Amino acid sequence: MKIAVYPGTFDPITNGHVDIIKRSAKLFDKIIVTVAVNTQKIPLFNLTERAEMIHQVLKNEERIEVDQFDGLIAEYLKRVNASAMIRGLRAVSDFEYEFQMSLMNRKLNPDVETVFLTPAQEYIHLNSTIVKEVASFGGDVSEYVPDYVKAKLQEKFKK
Ligand code: ADP
Repeated sequence: MKIAVYPGTFDPITNGHVDIIKRSAKLFDKIIVTVAVNTQKIPLFNLTERAEMIHQVLKNEERIEVDQFDGLIAEYLKRVNASAMIRGLRAVSDFEYEFQMSLMNRKLNPDVETVFLTPAQEYIHLNSTIVKEVASFGGDVSEYVPDYVKAKLQEKFKK
């Protein structure tokens, strides 16, 4: 069974992430969407909230699991027996960092390949940060996040 891991902060999960997950599911038998416990950015949603949103959004998809990871992703990949790590490539700006990371991860775990996928055109400019910014000012994010996430954003910014 070919297992791929899709790691990220998912603060929150957007339609861009969902697009990448669905594309990955065409290539692998099982996709583990794994949420970073520690992230350099201070997240708006805590770990449980981020994981729960992914759960809700993907609950009808078979072959997709939600998990969390702490520490080195290369170690996590070994532990779950993954043969690939999925990353989304949007603009040229993603490239440099992703390139370095994939080479470093190969050093740490030579058995895993990084697979880069590009989302549908309409999600190329989408990231969680911009969605949070728009939502914080009461803007409409319906096009960019699933309804469940939109509601959670509204809840968060109402407080
Ligand atoms: P972000 O970069 O939005 O803070 P994450 O850390 O959650 O998001 O990203 C996890 C992975 O998903 C990364 O490989 C990132 O490049 C990818 N990704 C994020 N948003 C998109 C998008 N709109 N289209 C394609 N890939 C994306």
